[in-house]
Amino acid sequence: MQKRKRNTIIFIILYLTAFYGWLWFFTNDSWLHVFGAALFPVIGAGVALSSFIRPYRILSWEHRVFILLLTLGIFLHLLSNLIWLLNLLINGEKDYPDLSFIIWITVYIFFLASLIYKLKRLYKSLSMAPFRFNISIFMIAAVSISFHYLINPIIALSAEHQSFAAFFILYPILDIGIGFISINIFYMTRYTVENKAFLFLSLGFLTQIITDTLYIYLLISGQYENGSWIDPLWTLAILFLAFSNIYVDKYEEEKKWSSNSYPQQGDNGLFLNLSVIFLAFLVMQGNGWRWNALIIGLVSSIIVIVIRQIFVMKQHRELLHDLWYHAYHDKLTGLFNRSSYLLDIKSLIQFSEEHQKKFAIMLLDFDRFKNINDTLGHGIGDRLLQECSVRLKQSISPNNRVYRVGGDEFIIILQDATEEICTTVANTILKNFSKVLSVHNYQISITPSIGISIYPDNGNTSEILLKNADTSMYLAKNKGRNQYELYSSELNEKMARKMQIENDLSQALANNELLLHYQPKVKLQSREIIGVEALLRWKHPILGDIPPDEFIPLAEETGHVVQIGEWVLYKAFKQLNTWNKNGYSNLLMCVNVSARQFQHGDFLKIVKKVLEETEVNPKDIELEITESIMQNFKDSTRILNELRNMGIRSSIDDFGTGYSSLSVLKDLPIQVIKIDRSFIKVLKDKDIAMVKTIMDIGNNLDLNVVIEGIETEEQLTTLLEISNRTIYGQGYLFGKPLPAEALEKVLCKK
Ligand code: C2E
Ligand code: MG
Ligand code: MG
Repeated sequence: MQKRKRNTIIFIILYLTAFYGWLWFFTNDSWLHVFGAALFPVIGAGVALSSFIRPYRILSWEHRVFILLLTLGIFLHLLSNLIWLLNLLINGEKDYPDLSFIIWITVYIFFLASLIYKLKRLYKSLSMAPFRFNISIFMIAAVSISFHYLINPIIALSAEHQSFAAFFILYPILDIGIGFISINIFYMTRYTVENKAFLFLSLGFLTQIITDTLYIYLLISGQYENGSWIDPLWTLAILFLAFSNIYVDKYEEEKKWSSNSYPQQGDNGLFLNLSVIFLAFLVMQGNGWRWNALIIGLVSSIIVIVIRQIFVMKQHRELLHDLWYHAYHDKLTGLFNRSSYLLDIKSLIQFSEEHQKKFAIMLLDFDRFKNINDTLGHGIGDRLLQECSVRLKQSISPNNRVYRVGGDEFIIILQDATEEICTTVANTILKNFSKVLSVHNYQISITPSIGISIYPDNGNTSEILLKNADTSMYLAKNKGRNQYELYSSELNEKMARKMQIENDLSQALANNELLLHYQPKVKLQSREIIGVEALLRWKHPILGDIPPDEFIPLAEETGHVVQIGEWVLYKAFKQLNTWNKNGYSNLLMCVNVSARQFQHGDFLKIVKKVLEETEVNPKDIELEITESIMQNFKDSTRILNELRNMGIRSSIDDFGTGYSSLSVLKDLPIQVIKIDRSFIKVLKDKDIAMVKTIMDIGNNLDLNVVIEGIETEEQLTTLLEISNRTIYGQGYLFGKPLPAEALEKVLCKK
C-alpha cells in the first residue's frame, strides 16, 4: 500500500505540474491553451477511472454500488471534457459545448446519488434519530448561507444577463448537498477503517465545491475564461476521489470481524453548534434584523434544535427504562433476577423489622434439570424454564414475587408468611408440577425441591435466610426430591454434621481414625465362640465416636466405601492371622461388605490380593452382604459363585428387612442367613412364628442360620425352644463388639 500511495502522490504532483506548465507555456497560443485545458481532464479522469477497477473487483456488493455511482460520475466528467476536446479538434470550437455543460451537471447528480446511497447504508447500522436532526440543522445553515451569498446574487445576475441561465443555480445547490453529506459521512465513519478513504473522498468533493464557487465568482465578476487557473482543480478533485482507493483493502478486513460491531452514535454536536453559531454571527454582521435567508435559517435551526432536544429527552427516558428493565429482569423468563432479589430482600427486611412482620423465602431447584439439558438440548431446556416460570407464577398470589436467581434456581418471597402459609404454597407448587409440561411435542415431567426459611425465626439477614433455605432444599433433595422442607435448627445441626462427616470421610483412613471391633459369634446350644464379626469404628477428632450406621451410607454415596472396605478386609484378615498364630485357631472371621463395594469391578481381585498377602485360609472367612445386592441378581450371583470357588462363605445380613424375595433366595449361592435383630426384640407370638419360619426356610435350603441381637436369657431360651437344628447367634448376651486385645480375654486357646 505504501508503494501505491507513493506512486499516486508522485503522479498527482507530476500531473498538476504538467497541466499548469502547459497552461502557462501556451498562454499566448489560445488554441493549444484550450487544447491542454480539454486534454488534461480527459487523461486525469481516465487514470482516476482505472484506479477504481481494483476496489470494484475486491469489494462486496454493498460497496460496489457506491463505487459504481462514483465511477459513473467520473466517467461523465471524462465524457464532457472529451466532447469538448473532440469539438475543438473537429470543429475548431474553443468554447465549452452546451452538451458538455449538461453532462457536467449529471456528474454532480451521480456523486450525490453515491453519497446518499452510502449515507443510507450508514443510517441502517447506526442509531441515527438525533443525528438526522443534526443533519437538518447543518443543512439549514448551509442552505441559508449559500442562498444568501451565492444563489441570491446569481438570481439577481441572471435577471440582468440572459446568458446566466437558471442552470447555474444548480451548482451551489448540488454542491451544498454533496458537501454536507460527505462531511457527515466522514464524521460518521470516523471510528471505522473506512475513515481514511472518506477523508480523501471528502477532500475531493470539497475541492470540487471550492472550485465551483471560485468558478461562479469568476464568472459573475467576468474574469473566467476557458483554461483558467482553476481548471486543473476540478481534475485534482477527481484525483483525490481516486486517491481514496488506496485504503480500500482495509474495509474488507473490518467486514470480516465487525458483523455486529458496537453502534457508534453519530453525534454531530460540534458541527451543529458551529454551524448555528456561525449563522448567528452572520446575522449579527448583516444589516439589522430584517427578514432574509440567514434569519429564516437561524430561526428554523433553533426550532429544529428544540424539537431535537424534546426527542432526545424522550429517547433517553425510554433508554433508561430499558436499562432498568434489563438490570432487574431475567432475559429468558422475564422474571425478576438475582439483583432484583437482593434489592427487594434488603428493603423487605428493613420493612419487616420496623413493622414486626414475618416473611418467607422459598428456594426452589428443579430436580435433575441437567438431564433435560443434556438429553433434549439447551433449546428445550430454555423453553422448559419459561414454562416452569409461568407455572410458578400461577402458584402464588400476585403480591408475592418470583425471581430466577440461577440456571434452574428460583426464589419466591412470601409476604406475611407463617409456616402454614408456606406449607400451603409449597403444596400448591408441588401439585401444579405434578402435571406434565409440553414443550415442542415433548411431554416433560419435572419436579421441584423446595427449601423454606422464615424471617426472623430462621435468620435476620438475607445471607442467613438464603443459606438456611439452601440447607432445607438440600435436605429435601436428599429425602428423595419433589418435596419441600421447612428450616429448623435441629435440621441445620443434622445437616452440618452430615456435611462434616461427608467432608472428613476422605481423610479418616489416612489420619488413622478408623479401627475394628470384634463381636463374638456363638453356637447357641453350647454358647461356644465359633467366630467373630468385624465391625468398623470411627473415632472422629471433633465429633467423637461415629457409629457405622451413620457414616457407611455416606461412604457408599461418595464411593469412599470401596477404599475403606479394602482396608477392613486387610485389617480383619490380618487379625485372624495373628490370632491363629497366637493359638486362637478355628475362628471364623465375618466381614461386612457394602453393596457398592461388592459390585465394584475390582472387588474379587481385591479379595484375592488380600487373601494372598495375609495368607489366611479362605475357609475361615465369611463375607456379610445385605439383601440389596439382589437387585443386581445376575452379577451378584456370578460374584458369589466366584467367592464360593475361592472357598469363601457368604451370608445375607439383616435378613428380612430388605428386598428379600424367597424365590431368588433359593438360587443365590450363599451359605448363611443372618436374621435381623428386629425380629427377636420383643419375641411375641407372631415374631416367634416369623423367626421359626425363617429358620425352617434356612434349614430346608441347607443354610446356616445366625440370629442377631440376642440380649437376654429369655430370648435365648425361646430361640432354643423353637429350633430343631444347630443355630448360631450374636448379641450382647454373649459379648459386645470389642477391640482385638479385649476380645482375646474371652476367646479360648485351642
Ligand atoms: P450389622 O452387620 O448387622 O452388625 C450388627 C450390628 O448390631 C452392630 O452394630 C452390632 O454392634 C449390633 N449388635 C450386636 N449385638 C447387639 C445386641 O445384642 N443389641 C443391639 N442393640 N445391637 C447389637 P454396629 O457395629 O453399630 O454396626 C452397624 C452396621 O454397620 C452393621 O450392621 C453393618 O451393616 C455396618 N457395618 C459395620 N462395620 C462395617 C464394615 O466394616 N463394612 C460395612 N460395609 N458395613 C459395616
Ligand atoms: Mg454384619
Ligand atoms: Mg446385621
